[in-house]
Amino acid sequence: RAKEIGRDAMQVFTAELANRAHEKLERQEELRRALAQGELFLQYQPQMDLATGRIFAVEALIRWRHPERGLVGPGDFIPLAEETGLIGPIGDWTLRAACRQNKAWQVSGLPPIVVSVNVSARQFQEKDWVERVAAALEESGLEARYLELELTESLIMQDVQQAVETMHRLEQLGVHLAIDDFGTGYSSLSSLKRFPVGRLKIDRSFVQDLPNDSDDAAIARAVISLARTLQLRVIAEGVETREQVDFLREAGCHEIQGFYLSRPIDARALQAILCIPNP
Ligand code: C2E
Ligand code: MG
Ligand code: MG
Ligand code: MG
Repeated sequence: RAKEIGRDAMQVFTAELANRAHEKLERQEELRRALAQGELFLQYQPQMDLATGRIFAVEALIRWRHPERGLVGPGDFIPLAEETGLIGPIGDWTLRAACRQNKAWQVSGLPPIVVSVNVSARQFQEKDWVERVAAALEESGLEARYLELELTESLIMQDVQQAVETMHRLEQLGVHLAIDDFGTGYSSLSSLKRFPVGRLKIDRSFVQDLPNDSDDAAIARAVISLARTLQLRVIAEGVETREQVDFLREAGCHEIQGFYLSRPIDARALQAILCIPNP
């Protein structure tokens, strides 16, 4: 009996595994098609300098216009892309599209801004990653100083030595580097000093309950003062309210990004925002 039950259970288990593997293959195939057929696109979210009120940069955020499911966010397909290696070609596409768009804005006469692109660990660890970045700049004609790459602490900490080396090569190209979701990882203060980054992005989780949550307020203040001490720029992500802006300004935060200013929007809508003169 026991043996039989065991065997039945095993068969169910194996069938379930096969099923899941199959589903994953299908989703992977679908994503590959999405890339090939132009279903992926970028939205842009503005970043404002609190001292001048100027929109000086935008973050490029990937989306999938799915034929049946509608608009799909990166949280629903980037992890799969990372697991399957599709992040290579998707990351290349993102980088190129962002550079091309930024160059197009400049050519149309808008004041030059920086475009910031998110980078996955697997992408960053590719042997020829720096060359790919150089190629994207070359192809688009965008000057390196108008591109920023957002790296996460966990990406860097996977292999600090290697990461620092790659970061130095990127720095030599002239692109800017930022640490995204800062505070959620575990990079030590001593390692932070070794990273050639220009900006820290305070993670949204520390911003959303400002100014009332005293722990978050303390963390936000600490990150801001850390950044200032290391002579880095610091930006708060996920800023939604006037109260948050007031707190951050008072705490010495340089820049903000979030729904308070604008949600991520299409290139055309962003262009309209860039045309508005500073207040
Ligand atoms: P992230 O880089 O930390 O991007 C910020 C996320 O916060 C975006 O979500 C943005 O829409 C959202 N956000 C911005 N302001 C606010 C706000 O005021 N309130 C709230 N509630 N949310 C806000 P999104 O676009 O869904 O992206 C999620 C994550 O997916 C990104 O986090 C990034 O890690 C990843 N991602 C996005 N685009 C790319 C890409 O092109 N390549 C890679 N590798 N990852 C990407
Ligand atoms: Mg980001
Ligand atoms: Mg972030
Ligand atoms: Mg994030």
